[in-house]
Amino acid sequence: MFYIGPGADELTDEHEGYVSGRRPDGSLTGIWTDVRAEPGAFTGFVPACECGWTGDAADPTPTGHHAAQRRWLTDHFEVLARELPGLAKVDVAERDFLWTGVPAAVRPSPAGYPVS
Ligand SMILES: [Zn+2]
Repeated sequence: MFYIGPGADELTDEHEGYVSGRRPDGSLTGIWTDVRAEPGAFTGFVPACECGWTGDAADPTPTGHHAAQRRWLTDHFEVLARELPGLAKVDVAERDFLWTGVPAAVRPSPAGYPVS
């Protein structure tokens, strides 16, 4: 999840949220892993941020994936937004985020389009 709304700048660029998968051994996947591509591999979906923040885990299900995204927004980014000068007077809303869940660089190309 990437903030692109009013006041977006270098400070908000440091906080790209993602859903991390918690493996049975307790380790967490990084920002480049699409946890939805490995069903059954995780014991939980953990909201995480590029800055190192992690939140409370949700169930490793599609509903849990959405919940983890929401927790990054409500438990981390909204709290942070109150402290960033560029966002002080901005109402951060869901429409101000890219919600792809996967960095563009690892997204498969759409069917029928050649990979360049
Ligand atoms: Zn952050």
